[in-house]
Amino acid sequence: MESGWLAEGPRVAEFEREFAAAQGVTQAVAVSSCTTALHLALLVAGVKPGDEVVVPSFWLQAQGHRFHQAVKPGDEVVVPSFSFLATASVPRCVGAEPVFADVDPLTGNLTAETVAAVLGPRVSAVVVVDQGGLPADVGPLAELCHARGVVLIEDAACAVGSRYRGCPVGIGADAAAWSFHPRKLLTTAEGGMLTTDRKDWAEHARRLRQHAASFPAAERHEAVRAPAEEYAELGDNFRMTDLQAAIGIVQLRRLPAMVERRRALVASYRAALDGVPGLRLIEDPPEGESNFQSFWAEVDADFPLTRDGLLDALAAEGVSARAGIMAAHLEPAFAGKPLRAPLPATERLTARTLILPLHHELGEEGVGRVADALRRAARTPKVPEGERR
Ligand SMILES: *Cc1c(COP(=O)(O)O)cnc(C)c1O
Repeated sequence: MESGWLAEGPRVAEFEREFAAAQGVTQAVAVSSCTTALHLALLVAGVKPGDEVVVPSFWLQAQGHRFHQAVKPGDEVVVPSFSFLATASVPRCVGAEPVFADVDPLTGNLTAETVAAVLGPRVSAVVVVDQGGLPADVGPLAELCHARGVVLIEDAACAVGSRYRGCPVGIGADAAAWSFHPRKLLTTAEGGMLTTDRKDWAEHARRLRQHAASFPAAERHEAVRAPAEEYAELGDNFRMTDLQAAIGIVQLRRLPAMVERRRALVASYRAALDGVPGLRLIEDPPEGESNFQSFWAEVDADFPLTRDGLLDALAAEGVSARAGIMAAHLEPAFAGKPLRAPLPATERLTARTLILPLHHELGEEGVGRVADALRRAARTPKVPEGERR
């Protein structure tokens, strides 16, 4: 605040350089949220909206109609339904249509197989999510997409600090979007980032985040005789502030220690819950390592309680767990939208998973308390499947 710069300025530029270096990419564009980062990613990748073609017709006018409207549909963007709603809502922001693909029943992430099942001629982009921080198997997806001229965007909102094939996640896609909301590991209160190795995309995104002005506000304010800016197209205000970036720079330095701490706590959870039947704990996939932003468990038929029954039992002991990840296609906002393929793994995971308490200050004692409550719940007398709640 004492520097005099509050809105986007030198701190944002510094945070962008440090974040790009940490993620192993050449370009990072700071924005107001992951949602706006995804929005920009689809715009710079050239995902096209539909067109309303208005055709005046004298014959139709004679029939009492004013115009005949032929509608050219927009592009399609393949997304998982099994994600926070933003992943599915962003295609609509650019006039495109989301197409839901199912996820792997173990990892909760899209795979090349589930995406191939819904690809069609209008698909111009795929958004793959590293759900809860668990790295998606991006390699085969990139191969599938690039063979068809489809762009692959990684929604890495939850995955800062996660690794895939020995590198930070995000590198295997054409662009990646990150969230710095307080629910995520690295926070700037609100904020997001778009990363890519495409310099042309990054430059375009930098213009679009500030109304597509030809000069950034920071450059104009530094000049004694400010150049006149020009607006060649329409953009938006997706800027991050220097106040947020200053927080982000400090947070970024703490990230490796935070990830290490979370992974140690997850190892303690695993040891404490070893041998509990009917509770599958999420684990690293063979291709990578999770930051364990969300440590979730699937409650299957061997467990004496349903997922909701277990949430109640934990709450009765003062343990606040959370229902697992949502499924966008079950929300009223997408109701009535026909599915291109059934989503059995999505529906199973959204009904049967819960997220266990985990933060880097939880401590071994906290893990022990939650694990004890889970073990007690696992000893509940079993109720026949049909009578369960
Ligand atoms: C949190 C989250 C978002 C949205 O991030 P914001 O920064 O709040 O816009 C998008 N996608 C996924 C998978 C998320 O978890």
